[in-house]
Amino acid sequence: MTSSASSVVSARNLCLTYETNDGPVHALSNVDLEVSKGDFVSFIGPSGCGKTTFLRVIADLERKTSGDITVNGMTPDEARKARAYGYVFQAPALYPWRTIEKNIALPLEIMGYARDEQAKRIAQTLDLVNLTGFEKKFPWQLSGGMQQRASIARALAFDADLLLMDEPFGALDEIVRDHLNEQLLKLWKRTNKTICFVTHSIPEAVYLSTKIVVMSPRPGRVTDIIESTLPLERPLDIRETPEFLEIAHRVREGLRAGHSYEE
Ligand code: ADP
Ligand code: MG
Repeated sequence: MTSSASSVVSARNLCLTYETNDGPVHALSNVDLEVSKGDFVSFIGPSGCGKTTFLRVIADLERKTSGDITVNGMTPDEARKARAYGYVFQAPALYPWRTIEKNIALPLEIMGYARDEQAKRIAQTLDLVNLTGFEKKFPWQLSGGMQQRASIARALAFDADLLLMDEPFGALDEIVRDHLNEQLLKLWKRTNKTICFVTHSIPEAVYLSTKIVVMSPRPGRVTDIIESTLPLERPLDIRETPEFLEIAHRVREGLRAGHSYEE
């Protein structure tokens, strides 16, 4: 399989079927997708359409049933061993008995970074997510939004080029989410990372992305891939522009086309 030098994730005819007691569940069916270096790709679709499964295949937490997938030109297994990505889960998943800095240090400890290098990276990533000054706090002393920023810092700490984010802001209220969306965009621009981001929110997908992947359930398919025409400079009020609303409309159409409300 060939993939260009700038290809970060490349999926061809990717299928994944879970074998369950109730029979097979086709979570992904013939998914074709190219994610290039520097892309901000959002995956949007109703619950159960395979969004988490797709991220988990990239991260080598699930194995494909058939088709092809490469991550940085490698198999997911090789990419995982090369620490090609950071993963941000839906819930912050911070250890309550560890301070914020110790939580961020954990993957660095596992990878055997020297103490001074750990300290340097913790300081850098806390600065990136605007949490400098909170290193000695425990997770429960922080708000939900701050906890999620800390888990983003942890995913950034070993400086992987690819960030996988599964509905990271789904549980937060809208004002906090707006703020984090703005910060995430700035961070993405500053760090030149490639981001695969799962969301339920149309405005969030349109606001953040260079590319929006619309998915439909049963079996999980890609119904539309939208290349954003929005400028990279995006103040929050860009969401009221005709250009933004037009893309949001196309996403909504894609979701509708892939979904039967008769069920
Ligand atoms: P999403 O993240 O879009 O909500 P998922 O990728 O979590 O969807 O799930 C896709 C489908 O696969 C769903 O029907 C879900 O119930 C099923 N599924 C997910 N994980 C498993 C598993 N480990 N075993 C069996 N079925 C699963
Ligand atoms: Mg999910």
